[in-house]
Amino acid sequence: MLANNVIPETPPALLSYYRQLDELVSRRLQDLQALPFPGNPAAGEAILQLRPESPSLEEQGFVPHEPEDLAANFLMISRVLAANAPTDPLALALDTALARGEFAPEFWRESMTDLEEKLLQWAGTHQLDGDALVQLAHWAATPRRRWAAQHYRGALKGLVTNERRRCPICGREADFALLNEREHGRRYLICIHCDLSWAFKRMGCSFCDNKDFDLLSYLIPEQSPGYKIYCCDKCRGYLKTFDQREDVPRLADRHLLEYANTLFLDLLAVNQGYLPR
Ligand SMILES: [Zn+2]
Ligand SMILES: [Zn+2]
Repeated sequence: MLANNVIPETPPALLSYYRQLDELVSRRLQDLQALPFPGNPAAGEAILQLRPESPSLEEQGFVPHEPEDLAANFLMISRVLAANAPTDPLALALDTALARGEFAPEFWRESMTDLEEKLLQWAGTHQLDGDALVQLAHWAATPRRRWAAQHYRGALKGLVTNERRRCPICGREADFALLNEREHGRRYLICIHCDLSWAFKRMGCSFCDNKDFDLLSYLIPEQSPGYKIYCCDKCRGYLKTFDQREDVPRLADRHLLEYANTLFLDLLAVNQGYLPR
């Protein structure tokens, strides 16, 4: 148990950024929901075939990719960043680049994997934080991922494996986990991009698959009843975990907001020497 006085405070601008991001993504998702989902009859079989290491549905082409939409979302997300971090070098550089039309729809034609490469290169040329830039592109893809997740959610409930460490929709690592009270604490991993949870075995690190008990532990912060931080001393990863069996209310209905409201736990884990997410 960690004492109260070591709980760090989340910077207000960071919280505000995530809240505005959540509003924006929810609004863009609503726009999409007014349209028919471009379903693919092969998706059902692809979901049945998903194994721990197989490519995500997005990597297999089952998440609609729309360059115009990505460009529009990226512009709006850059503005949210600039509003909350006006002196951030990435926000300033994006403001100039967007005004020059550098991130027009043509930029976004490739797959997300290729786009990541392109964005890292762009950031390198401009001596900016490439990971932060790639993250903005992932947020831009988020409304369509959530749309796909809603469409495939029913089929994904029948996922045959409980060893899949990456999100079945977007292929990213889990953002946090929960232990379900109705299923004797069965563990679910959660992707805040896709707003999706999927069953995962109780023991083992969801980042490196380490199963050595001596290298797995957890922190229980006194100020956040219900929350634990699972830590892996092999990869130095950590996973915020909400235990629904504890008699405490959930922090938020929306995963992205819940993630933002518990950012102090991330700061805490990093202060303890675990790697920032
Ligand atoms: Zn995802
Ligand atoms: Zn690990």
